[in-house]
Amino acid sequence: MQTDNKISSFLKLASEGNKNAIIKRRIIRQYLTGGDCSLTDLSREMGLSVPTVTKLVGELIDEGFVHDFGKQSTSGGRRPNLYGLNPDAGYFLGVDVCNNHVSFGLINFKGRLIKYKKEVPFSLAKTKPSLDELCDLIDATIAGFGIARKKILSIGINLSGRVDSASGYSFSYFYTEDKPLTRLLEERLGCNVNIENDSRAMAYGEYMCGGCNNEKNVICINVSWGLGIGIILNGQLFYGHSGFSGEFGHFPFFDNEIICRCGKRGCLETGASGLAVHRIICEMLAQGRASMLSEKYDATGDVSLNDILDAVHKEDVLAIEVVEQVAHQLGKAIAGLINIFNPELIIIGGTLSTAGQCLMLAVQSAVYKYSLQLVSKDTTVRLSTLAGEAGVLGACMLARSKTLCLV
Ligand SMILES: [Zn+2]
Repeated sequence: MQTDNKISSFLKLASEGNKNAIIKRRIIRQYLTGGDCSLTDLSREMGLSVPTVTKLVGELIDEGFVHDFGKQSTSGGRRPNLYGLNPDAGYFLGVDVCNNHVSFGLINFKGRLIKYKKEVPFSLAKTKPSLDELCDLIDATIAGFGIARKKILSIGINLSGRVDSASGYSFSYFYTEDKPLTRLLEERLGCNVNIENDSRAMAYGEYMCGGCNNEKNVICINVSWGLGIGIILNGQLFYGHSGFSGEFGHFPFFDNEIICRCGKRGCLETGASGLAVHRIICEMLAQGRASMLSEKYDATGDVSLNDILDAVHKEDVLAIEVVEQVAHQLGKAIAGLINIFNPELIIIGGTLSTAGQCLMLAVQSAVYKYSLQLVSKDTTVRLSTLAGEAGVLGACMLARSKTLCLV
């Protein structure tokens, strides 16, 4: 790894159980959650003596993690110096891999997004050339961001499908038996790497950077080409026993004859996802239904999901009808989630969520119709406000949280 020596040696000491390093990591966590503060306030918050805090914060300043920002600007009495994290102590790169593009983000040590590169064309496939292309794009992005690689403490990468972030294996894409994907990527990229399921990372992005107002039980619906969810219970990401929780798209839901991408039949995703919208509208266009999409379909035999969403925004009746039909099924399934989890908040994100009210009205109507009112009356269902950045932000934040052992 090319990671900055002071930081990696500090993290290694903490992981080996070094008492001072563990307390220093707690101090960093306190600054992350509580913001800048004086030594007196820090000692009170952490239940440590002022001399201990003074000594350890002094070490963190020498190591480059913490800054002394000088006297507070507020008036009255003696004004103590304010201390807080050095935003440039290190950076975390987030990589959100989608079917046909990749988005990148870079946060500083304090968690502020300082670089963002949206939707770079990329064709995701279960092949080595596809993995090589992804690594080349990451290399090019780091170079383009102008940040020294040794200052990047970790890279977080989101992939769809079955991802076990604890072991570092991705089972749906880039799987090899001999070593975890994270190891392969670390050797290739020269940085620590964390991988995560895309919907779970999106949920973490929403939780850390979106519109959550102290809600601790949140479900984030990622309805894009496929369908997945990220679950936050009691303020923590829920992984399940083996790390595969959230496969909502493969909930056996329909009594249909449609084979899902997973190989099974009748999964929720076959009727409540972007690919369902695409399939249904293509069937209708083939039957000669009138739409502004007809011309392209007749000429090429296909339309993209973006074409369909564009048609929704241009008030195409067929596109609106199909999104409503799919949203109704999604809302019915969300009613089931509400009945099971009793969450405070459900956030709907992903590509299909850009259909806006066309999607939401049908979802909310089905939620009202099918959920138990006593359970759902305190649940808010709303669209993501992060406009597609939730995945990238989640990847960045998870990279930081895992590096600093915050999750
Ligand atoms: Zn399935």
